[in-house]
Amino acid sequence: MKPSEILELLRQEVWVLGRHAYAIRKSLYGDVTTYISNMVLNYTNVCVVGCSFCAFYKPPHSGYLYTVDEAVEKVLEVDAAHGIRQVLIQGGVNPEVGIEYFEELFRRIKSKAPHIAIHALSPLEVEYLSRRERSSYREILERLKNAGMESMPGGGGEILVDSVRKTIAPKKIDTETWLRIMEEAHKLDIPTSATMMYGHVETLEDIAVHMYRVAELQQKTGGFLAFIAWNFEPGGSELGKKIPHPKTSATLLRIIATARIVFNNLIPHIQTGWLTAGPETAQLAMYFGADDFGGTLYGEKVLEWKRVEAPIDRREDVVRIIKAAGFKPAERDNYYRVIKSPSGHVET
Ligand code: SF4
Repeated sequence: MKPSEILELLRQEVWVLGRHAYAIRKSLYGDVTTYISNMVLNYTNVCVVGCSFCAFYKPPHSGYLYTVDEAVEKVLEVDAAHGIRQVLIQGGVNPEVGIEYFEELFRRIKSKAPHIAIHALSPLEVEYLSRRERSSYREILERLKNAGMESMPGGGGEILVDSVRKTIAPKKIDTETWLRIMEEAHKLDIPTSATMMYGHVETLEDIAVHMYRVAELQQKTGGFLAFIAWNFEPGGSELGKKIPHPKTSATLLRIIATARIVFNNLIPHIQTGWLTAGPETAQLAMYFGADDFGGTLYGEKVLEWKRVEAPIDRREDVVRIIKAAGFKPAERDNYYRVIKSPSGHVET
């Protein structure tokens, strides 16, 4: 689909889009909505990139950095309390952290808890590590994979249009670099997610171009497992002073429905984006094409204040929300495979 065709879809009435997207979702997944029991390990909040939309980062010497021991302990604690299947490891670009930190962290987690999949870092951190270690993207990704990294989130995708990136995050990697690192990961059989953060300075045309670029790479590699759209949350960020109000739920529903149509036969899973949208909108999102709720996100710190607004802290909370919307919850693993009990029943 060309960007102009995607734009035409984005401009349709939201319920028309929703009906179309729901029909596709229903034919692929019926009434099943998957979710994962996972935690987020924000190993540091120190970052030198300083994006205007980020209320999480602190400059060097003003924030925290977990030692590998502390980080491993946190993962094991959450696993003992809740039984997790995935840890999402993300932080800022902290100049004190080299690749050995991640190699040791991944190896230690895998040796103590091999059942926990490591979903870690992002193209931004890979680019930083490649400069720090004077190695290619491929070499960095190979080392991370050998240490236990199984998949990579799509962090830093924001909007894949350089004029937008320059406005909201001028020190962040450009569109081409984000796409190149994703391509390298896919070539090494590291599946990834494609993310998009909307609701700031972008136009509908920019959103169409973003989806087009993701679809174009997916046609080449097939390595994106899911598409996840996040709303910009002003919080205490610099950008929030200029854009104090987030977009309404209708924007998310429009984007999710368009994504389901655009990525049909390309990217299998579309997430609800519950963290920024809230549980009620996430329930509606399932009627607009989303088939995956996302995770429990134990320990998440970047949008901690949003989790206070909508505490979804246990598997039971996710299951209840999915069921209340009229869908059948099914727990999945890191690769979006539904987990079945030995008797063949789907675990809910
Ligand atoms: S969004 Fe990420 S890269 Fe940007 S300032 Fe925050 S932590 Fe750093």
